[in-house]
Amino acid sequence: MSVYPTLVIPETIAAGPGPGNTDPRVLDAFSRQGVADHMHPDVLRGMVEAKEMLRDAWGTRNIHTFGVAGTGWSGLDCAISPILPGDKVVMFVNGTFSGIDSIGVRMKAATAEELAADSLNPQPASVTVIDVPHGESVTGEIVEKALAEHKPMWAMMAHWETGSGRINDIQGFNDACEKHSVMGIVDAVSSLGVSDFSIDDYPAVKIWASCPQKGVICLPLTYAPVSFRDEAIELVKKRGVRTYDHHPILEARHWGVVDGKDGQQQGYHRTHSCYAVAAFHEALRIMLEYGKAKKAADYEYYNTGLRQAVEAMGCEVTSNMTSLIVLNLPGDLAGKEKELVGGCRAQNFGIWPTLSEPVQVRIGILNLLNKESITEIASKFADAMIGMGAEVDKGKILGDLEAYFAG
Ligand SMILES: *Cc1c(COP(=O)(O)O)cnc(C)c1O
Repeated sequence: MSVYPTLVIPETIAAGPGPGNTDPRVLDAFSRQGVADHMHPDVLRGMVEAKEMLRDAWGTRNIHTFGVAGTGWSGLDCAISPILPGDKVVMFVNGTFSGIDSIGVRMKAATAEELAADSLNPQPASVTVIDVPHGESVTGEIVEKALAEHKPMWAMMAHWETGSGRINDIQGFNDACEKHSVMGIVDAVSSLGVSDFSIDDYPAVKIWASCPQKGVICLPLTYAPVSFRDEAIELVKKRGVRTYDHHPILEARHWGVVDGKDGQQQGYHRTHSCYAVAAFHEALRIMLEYGKAKKAADYEYYNTGLRQAVEAMGCEVTSNMTSLIVLNLPGDLAGKEKELVGGCRAQNFGIWPTLSEPVQVRIGILNLLNKESITEIASKFADAMIGMGAEVDKGKILGDLEAYFAG
C-alpha cells in the first residue's frame, strides 16, 4: 500500500444549486481555531450563541431550534423522526429533493412488514404521495384538496424544491394544515438564508429542517438547522422516536435546551467539533449582519439579471427560485444538457444538470451577490453555448447585463 500525495482540491465557481460559495470568513473561522474538546467553555458558549442567532435568523421563538451535525439529510432525518410506523402522512413531491424526502417519510411510516417488502423504497399503506409535475409548484389548492380527502396526521413538502427550482406555497400549506388539524413538516433546505420568511408566521408547520451549505453558506458536515414547535416536542415525549443521535430532545440538550427551556448544557450527547461550531457561528453572524430582507432583495436582483441574460441566449427558464435558474437549452442544443454541463464542470465552472427527469441545466448564485460574479457566470455560460455551436451574441448580452446593473 502506497501513501498517496497530499490531496489538493482546486478553487471553482460553485454556480450550482448548492453547496454554495462558502464565505471566506467561514473558512477562516473553521481553520483558525485552537485544538479544543467539545466541552471547552468557549465551544459551549459558541453553541448557545449559535442557537440564539439561529432563532433570530429563522424568525422563531421555538425553544427547540438548533443544529444537527451533518448535512441537510441529517436535519431532515431528525425532523421526520417523530413519524412512527403506521402514522398517516400526505407527502407532496414536485422534484428530486421532495422525492427523496418522500423515501425518508415512507421508511419512517412503514410497518416492519412493509419495510421488509421493499426496504429501500417502501410503499406503506398509510402514506399518500401527491405527485406534482416537475417544473410546477405545490399550490395551496393542491394541499387543501389532499388534506380534506385523506385527513392525515402529518403532511410534508419542500418549501423551495431545488430539483426543479420551484417555490411552493408555504402559506397555503400552513392554512390547509391548520384547517384540518394536520401537523406540517417543511424541508426548508433551499429557502433558509435566501428567502425572507419567519417560521412563527406559519404556526401549523410544527417542524422545519434546513442545511448548512446552501443559503446559510456554511460548510457541509457542520450543522443542519432544525426547529420544532412545542406541540411536536410534546408528541416526541409521549411516543418517542427510534433514533439516538437525531433525537430531537436528546440532541437539543447539548445546545442548552433542557426540559423545554434554555438551561445548562448536558455533559455528553456526542462529540461536537469546535471547528464546525466556529464555522456555523460565523455563518450566522454573516447572515444577521447582512439582514434577511436585504439579502432576499439582492438574490431577486441578481437572479433577474442572470435570468434575462440566459433568456437572451435563447434558453427557456422554468424555475422561480431566486437563488437558482433551471432552464431548457434552445432548439439545436436540446438533448445536449449533460454534455454542456460536463464541459463547464471540466473548467471548474460548477453548474449542474437536474438529477431526475427531465434533463435540464441548473445555474445557481449562492453567495455570488455581486455584478462581477454574475457577469462571469453569464460570460462562461455564453462561451459554453457558443462552443457547442449556438448562435449567441455575447457582446450584446453582456452589454445589456452591464446596463441592467448600471440601472
Ligand atoms: C440539498 C437539499 C437537500 C439535501 O441536503 P444535503 O445537504 O445534500 O444533505 C434536501 N432538500 C432540499 C430541498 C435540498 O435542496
